[in-house]
Amino acid sequence: MRPEIEKIVGAAAVDERPVRDLWPAATMAERAGETPDRVLVARPAGREQVVSILRWATANAVIVTPLGGGSGVCGALAPKRGELVLDMGGFDRILEIAEVNLVCRVESGVNGMTLERKLNEKGLTLGHFPSSLPGTTIGGLVSTRSSGQESSRYGSIEDMVLSLAVVLPDGTFAAPRPGPRDAAGDAVGHQAARHAPLRPRGLCLQPVRGRRRRVRDSDRNRR
Ligand SMILES: Cc1cc2nc3c(=O)[nH]c(=O)nc-3n(C[C@H](O)[C@H](O)[C@H](O)COP(=O)(O)OP(=O)(O)OC[C@H]3O[C@@H](n4cnc5c(N)ncnc54)[C@H](O)[C@@H]3O)c2cc1C
Repeated sequence: MRPEIEKIVGAAAVDERPVRDLWPAATMAERAGETPDRVLVARPAGREQVVSILRWATANAVIVTPLGGGSGVCGALAPKRGELVLDMGGFDRILEIAEVNLVCRVESGVNGMTLERKLNEKGLTLGHFPSSLPGTTIGGLVSTRSSGQESSRYGSIEDMVLSLAVVLPDGTFAAPRPGPRDAAGDAVGHQAARHAPLRPRGLCLQPVRGRRRRVRDSDRNRR
């Protein structure tokens, strides 16, 4: 598998290592001497690379798991030998913070605390404060439908997402749409968030252009 993946992302963006989140049972197993499998990890640098990897993986029946900050505590990141991990850390750009309409566009690998600090510089806040915020990425927060210490006031992460750009397992790019997230039926973003942690194979909340998040005016909302 490695040569094929290297052809897509380049040799420098591929390595092999154990990957797991902070699931207590896995931590205990490791302390008891169990070593997690080493798996192939690719760090794609753009949407086209994600598309190519997922097309290849689907054609070859390889399980793909996206990796955000690795701060999950439920064992969603527990890839086995022969599977592929997509490290989304290369998608770390904050594309836009629109101060008038209070919307921002970010890539999925942006660190949660980094985004909050950037918003704070403009007198804004996302209003999302899981205690793990410094170890999270936006993609991880969305896929786990994260809640935080102020969620009773601002809502959970899914209440803040206006739209998502997603690469589906067959490599199809589902572009974000402007407009309300709900019209008739279940919102696509909710479906993505619901299925990503359960069926991580290839569902990548992409980066990205077009992911919109609602932000708050921190002064106006301060009590
Ligand atoms: C000390 C501590 C405190 C915590 N407190 C909270 C809390 O208050 N509230 C809370 O909700 N959670 C909390 N968590 C859990 C964890 O931080 C959250 O689940 C967080 O959302 C995970 O984000 P991550 O970027 O680390 O995702 P990861 O752990 O890397 O991944 C989590 C899941 O998301 C998937 N994923 C990651 N990136 C993408 C992507 N780009 N596209 C598609 N799928 C993706 C992964 O495949 C995996 O299934 C805590 C964890 C710790 C260790």
